[in-house]
Amino acid sequence: MDVRALHGASERAEALQALDASHASGCPHCTTATAHTRLVFGEGSPTARVMFVGEAPGETEDQLGRPFVGRAGQKLDEMIRAMGLCREDVYIANVLKSRPPENRTPLQHEVDRCGPYLIEQIRIVRPTVIVTLGGPATKLLLATEQGITRLRGVWASVEVPLTGADASPSEALTIPVMPTFHPAYLLRNYTPETRRQVWHDLQAVLATLNAAT
Ligand code: URA
Repeated sequence: MDVRALHGASERAEALQALDASHASGCPHCTTATAHTRLVFGEGSPTARVMFVGEAPGETEDQLGRPFVGRAGQKLDEMIRAMGLCREDVYIANVLKSRPPENRTPLQHEVDRCGPYLIEQIRIVRPTVIVTLGGPATKLLLATEQGITRLRGVWASVEVPLTGADASPSEALTIPVMPTFHPAYLLRNYTPETRRQVWHDLQAVLATLNAAT
């Protein structure tokens, strides 16, 4: 899809709806996956300035068809509120749009098949900043094998072509990416140090947003 002509919220919302439908009928991973009950495409403002990207739906997300609505989601909501924002201001998506069996980490071939739909979501929403939550999202967007502990807190970026795979480099968007810990990790390791690290990362995001206005 050529997204250069998509300007308004309603145009982007329509493009996201069309992508949701084409994902549901055509995703080579999710149309063959068997462990889930519902697909979890993503939600939020189609013109969000911040996009949060997680790993894959968990049990509650699978039941409700919405991203980050379980315990980790409540922690993410807290993080969003601490930034002075609310859920409706941001866009939330995952690398995989169907729950893996036993909530296991996504496998590479699953990411290869479902991941391109996340890239399309990014192309449509065109956020000012992306926050990757944990290892799988960070690995996909930064095309790296390094672990989240080394990558978190340091700005990186993702290049997203505006007009599809054959676009010239001048037609690519470069979006800053801030990797941080997954809220589920934060819940399991709720120490002053991990809380300080995540808050540091979110403050860096706020500073970039403020500088971009
Ligand atoms: N964990 C994720 O990575 N994504 C969700 O939507 C929920 C939990």
